[in-house]
Amino acid sequence: MPSSALRERLRASGSAARSGQASSGELDPVYLGAKGTQFAARRARCRAMPSACLLQPVLCALREGAGALRQLLAPDYCAACDAPVPRDQVFCSPCGPCPSPPPGHDVVRALVAGAYEPPLSTAILRMKFGHRTDLANRLALLLPDAGARSFAGRWIVPVPLHYSRLVERGFNPAALLARQLSRRAGGRYAPTFLRRLRDTPHQSRLPAAARRENVRDAFVACQSAAGRQAVLVDDVITTGSTLDACSRALYAAGVVHVTVVALAATPTP
Ligand SMILES: [Zn+2]
Repeated sequence: MPSSALRERLRASGSAARSGQASSGELDPVYLGAKGTQFAARRARCRAMPSACLLQPVLCALREGAGALRQLLAPDYCAACDAPVPRDQVFCSPCGPCPSPPPGHDVVRALVAGAYEPPLSTAILRMKFGHRTDLANRLALLLPDAGARSFAGRWIVPVPLHYSRLVERGFNPAALLARQLSRRAGGRYAPTFLRRLRDTPHQSRLPAAARRENVRDAFVACQSAAGRQAVLVDDVITTGSTLDACSRALYAAGVVHVTVVALAATPTP
């Protein structure tokens, strides 16, 4: 597709997302996957802040370029502190090993790499709030079954971000992880399959009783998936209610089995 046509479709779908419209036929930048979401978010930030219009894309491109260069020069580095590490090792010795997964979650059953504690929590915060998209490649090594090709034939579906949250952050960490997982575990990356229809307050700020209600009917599958198996991917499980709501949307679309995979989980509240 010519870049001008793509820009035109992104502009049209971005306006629709901000006004609350959701049509399965249109191209929505929230669900374009890692590269597409970063591109769409950059453009949206430019429209929101005309004074930074020239600088913002340059800064974003520099950050992404620095991450790619870092990966090229030192492909194996600690995800928590950037120190060199032996091949395929995610954390250095001083940072310590990945913490063990916490006991099973009450709301959702999931395959989890570890508890949300250092050095895993440190690395996740660097990825999400430090614009270190390159760390998704490193952290995906920790995802359960990432190297076993055991998800071949399944759809790998990231938990979607709402458009406004995507603009705020610039990328969807769950989408980056899902893309890496699909490469390693053999599944089909499906970033457009689930849509988040409305923005919801952070689950951690709500009392337990309000969490399930907060995300009820917030997700919808954009096409039929009768008979399919899906792997639902998120970065951190807090209450489990979001993943539960996503699983319900997948089952409603005809998915016969959902496996939930996450990097980290907080202890059950
Ligand atoms: Zn380290």
